[in-house]
Amino acid sequence: MKVQGFLSTRTGGVVTIQPGQTIREAAGLMFQHNIGAVVVLDDQGRIVGILSERDIVRKAVTHDRVFDMAVRDVMTADVVTAVPQDDLMSVAHTMTERRFRHLPIVDEQNNLIGIISIGDVLKAQRDQYRGEIDTLEAQIMAAGT
Ligand code: AMP
Repeated sequence: MKVQGFLSTRTGGVVTIQPGQTIREAAGLMFQHNIGAVVVLDDQGRIVGILSERDIVRKAVTHDRVFDMAVRDVMTADVVTAVPQDDLMSVAHTMTERRFRHLPIVDEQNNLIGIISIGDVLKAQRDQYRGEIDTLEAQIMAAGT
């Protein structure tokens, strides 16, 4: 399956935040949407970072007032992205190799059009295997009648 196919099964947009907002606001969004990362966009809508719960925990080790800090001071600025034509397996490979769990999806103009997590990839693979098993079971049953 391609990233495009996965995106088409998805409802709702990507949860984003601006660099000047606080970590408290970011954590509130993550809690509200039950997600582990938000994409950081500047006021032109360009991707300038990604902030995951791991960034917040890391920063909290050395900064007691992490919740009052600006997103820009905690986020990862060098964001790795994927495109809709990418294969889900290659996306999973990137996340495993780079040791992160989120990959924003961009179009040709680098505009944010989605996000995929390692959990999404595992679920898509499980659904695909389940479908293949159902088909094989149906074929075996039909052959036996
Ligand atoms: P995660 O496993 O996604 O919660 O993130 C682990 C670390 O990788 C954090 O420092 C994130 O900011 C960073 N990170 C997550 N996704 C990406 C990405 N697509 N590109 C670059 N860094 C990322």
